[in-house]
Amino acid sequence: MDTEPVPRGIDPSQAHPARRYNYWLGGKDNFAADRASAATVAEAFPTVHLSAIENRRFMQRAVTYLARDVGMRQFLDIGTGLPSAGNVHEIVQEIAPEARVVYVDNDPVVLVHARALLTGVRPDSLAYIDADLRDPDKIMNDPALLRTLDLDRPVTLLLVAILHFITDEEGPYEIVRRLRERLAPGSHLVITHAARDHLTPERYAANVEANERSGVPFRLRSRAEFARFFEGLELLEPGITSVLDWRPDGARRRPSVEDVSMWCGVARVP
Ligand code: SAH
Repeated sequence: MDTEPVPRGIDPSQAHPARRYNYWLGGKDNFAADRASAATVAEAFPTVHLSAIENRRFMQRAVTYLARDVGMRQFLDIGTGLPSAGNVHEIVQEIAPEARVVYVDNDPVVLVHARALLTGVRPDSLAYIDADLRDPDKIMNDPALLRTLDLDRPVTLLLVAILHFITDEEGPYEIVRRLRERLAPGSHLVITHAARDHLTPERYAANVEANERSGVPFRLRSRAEFARFFEGLELLEPGITSVLDWRPDGARRRPSVEDVSMWCGVARVP
């Protein structure tokens, strides 16, 4: 992407989570600053690219399960990321062509890609909102969201690999509570989050320091801190696990839980 003209509103000198994640997944939609930030994180956590790959695989299994086995037909994906193989709308509309998906992200590069992705798609079935998770009411009251999703019926809310960018001061639990309040009974909440439990105190300290240097605010959370996001909800089997262990599909060589170090959970709104 470095050799192409940079669209307006995009600052290539500042690392962004979406572009860094794209780099870890093996994509080309990233700038030198994103790759430098990725390298800084990898100094303390060399297997971080495996976290990204396994996180994405979990998301795809969870969305497939919710559309195919639970019958969910509405999806709200906050922290969409750059398009990659197996995006949410592709998975769920393959299972149920009438399914509706709203994407939300705050990265201007994601916005540019989303515009391209939306062309040619049935406009009532897919929407993209350029908004910030830290303003949940703006997201839930957005006209495009209200046009696309019926909030009186169940919605699957995806917060996949995004809450670790929300610092404690920004009130992550309050943000999730505000979003949940708007979800009808039978809705589902899917969350993944970088874990701190698998790190020794020394490695944890090195990770915190590397994340600070990387220019992207990042907060690793413990299993107990992660579980708080699901308070009052009914966790689906197998409960809170590593992204590797949530309804894994078939035998394949896989990295260790420690090298991936990501929690996940899927819960039902009663
Ligand atoms: N959910 C996708 C992408 C994860 S990368 C997947 O799991 O494959 C995290 C995404 O969250 C990035 O696209 C980043 O731009 C977005 N993001 C980070 N902080 C955000 C915020 N405060 N508001 C909206 N989007 C945010």
